[in-house]
Amino acid sequence: MKVLFIDLDKLEHKIINIDSQGIISLGVKVHNEYESWKKDIYDPSVPFIFGLGPFVGGKLFGVHRMVAIFKSPLTRTLHFSSIGGVGYKFMGSGIDAIVIIGYSKEPSIIFISPNNVKIEPLNYVNSYKNYKGVYAFSRYLLEKYNDFFSNYNARAVVVGEGSMYTYNGNLFSFDIFNGEFRIGSEDFSGRGGAGSSLFKGHNILGIISGGNYKYRYEKVNDFQLINKIFLEKFGKSYIEVINEKTKKYKYDPETGSGGTFGENYLLYKELLPLFGYKSIYYPKELRRKHYDNIIELFWKPFQEEVFIKSKSWFTCGDLCNVACKKVYKGKKVDYEPFHSLGPFIGNYIFEEALKLVDLVDQYGMDVIEVGHLISWLFDLIENKLLEPGEVGINDYPMFNFENFDPKNDSYKNSKIAEKIIEGLIKKNNEILSLISEKGIRVSSKILNEKYKERIKDNKFNDYVVYASFGNEGYITPNLYWGPGVVAPMYILGKYWTDYSNSFARPEDFARFSYGRAINESLVEDLGICRFYRGVYEPVLDRLYKEITGKDLDKNLYKEIAEYSIKAKAEPVLWESKRAMDLVSTMCRELNSKDWKFERYEDYVEWWKRFKESLDEYLGLKNIQ
Ligand code: SF4
Repeated sequence: MKVLFIDLDKLEHKIINIDSQGIISLGVKVHNEYESWKKDIYDPSVPFIFGLGPFVGGKLFGVHRMVAIFKSPLTRTLHFSSIGGVGYKFMGSGIDAIVIIGYSKEPSIIFISPNNVKIEPLNYVNSYKNYKGVYAFSRYLLEKYNDFFSNYNARAVVVGEGSMYTYNGNLFSFDIFNGEFRIGSEDFSGRGGAGSSLFKGHNILGIISGGNYKYRYEKVNDFQLINKIFLEKFGKSYIEVINEKTKKYKYDPETGSGGTFGENYLLYKELLPLFGYKSIYYPKELRRKHYDNIIELFWKPFQEEVFIKSKSWFTCGDLCNVACKKVYKGKKVDYEPFHSLGPFIGNYIFEEALKLVDLVDQYGMDVIEVGHLISWLFDLIENKLLEPGEVGINDYPMFNFENFDPKNDSYKNSKIAEKIIEGLIKKNNEILSLISEKGIRVSSKILNEKYKERIKDNKFNDYVVYASFGNEGYITPNLYWGPGVVAPMYILGKYWTDYSNSFARPEDFARFSYGRAINESLVEDLGICRFYRGVYEPVLDRLYKEITGKDLDKNLYKEIAEYSIKAKAEPVLWESKRAMDLVSTMCRELNSKDWKFERYEDYVEWWKRFKESLDEYLGLKNIQ
């Protein structure tokens, strides 16, 4: 791989060829060399790595994701977060990966082209023409550096205020076509705080890159070879396999819908996590009532606009015929961000969620984490651990699952959520400032102390679901009700686990989750969009071998686990009752005979046996 090392302290850069399977493999290697495991998350000598996979520039679809590898302000170990389609433009520079170390004296933008690497000081622009936040900044860059964008067919990746003022900032990128934003082709590196890591650790506001380099391996142009690999594995052509395996994300004729938003509501029904996962405590009939309201008020407006009235579908900018970006009145709609600031916080009105998602997007923050945070604060107020005024709001949210009036209470909750989101950025309130700086896990412990006289049965951290790593690391889960989202896996908050609504003995569950983690890590390592996992996973070894001439090494997840152990951020036992209940309620929901959660020790034993099994599968301990 052609790796561009940028040292912001010395204002130097150099390009080094490094043999590496993929971008995450490279990232882990570089982090180990810099011994970042022993350093603070924002230490400028902790590298920030951003790069693409080996399959770019040819005839393969969905292989142009750019992946950030960084020490996460949330988990306190390595995390990986990717943006769709960015690699399609970034590959033009001829560089496969960028490694940033050091701290820029002034906030800056990095320009990368085949001819030059330039670091330019620049102030963030938060409002420009009729755009706000990361959209305004991207627009400003597009106009100010129009020559660079057009000469190099470039694309920008930027951070927003969420990265400047909170632990939860992400990276944002809008694709450009003919000098204009391409509607719907906007994407974020969602989880783990990649943007905060780039800005707080290195004072970098964005990277703009382009050029006319294309493929790295000539064989990605050999469509006959690609087709042959698929014909031999599936008995179907490459395009037929894509159409079959990605129909959920494009259009499913059986449901008449598509994309993650369109499909997940139809699929998960009363298993959707609602009200900060509080729904898991209630009978199916009540959850079904909520679900019916969600379909009517939340899903139908989207379905009518995006599937019935028009077909407003776009791609992320990758070479792709799935067009998973379903766009409602100019805004890309996916299940997790909309659910997160919709039903998960007690808001069943689609247009209200649209406003909130847009606001969080403008700030450049991970929407899923914000949804957990808001539902947590709502529950704390509901349970009298906090008063509204203590988090800068002047009204009580309606967060009672039994007495919720979807039409009226949604508007109220949405309005309050908006104030909290703004408070996280403005830091005009002591508790929101604390959370903005330290995240949910550390803040909850400080609040347990500060308000200890208010605590009866449940502590602050019992009202929010998160998985813990080491002493301070954590991550809130993706929005699924399944033990795998909080099980002791080394990387969580993304899909490197079994996140299905299932339950099993810990040894079996660990085996399923381990299998998913191995495959998902390899797919991301190679810069592949995970919506194509059903297409590529079955042929990954062969495809990699045929194209690069090398064997696929499957040790990546183990190397990541070893890094986490060195960083003292390996999975530790659940601290939150709701995280534990997420596991036991799924066991009960499925009437599983595999386990009985009656005493605290039953939870500890399931957790421990899961972790021991995972470590054995990984070879971190000798298998007996
Ligand atoms: S499926 Fe969606 S995210 Fe994946 S490559 Fe296609 S448009 Fe991009």
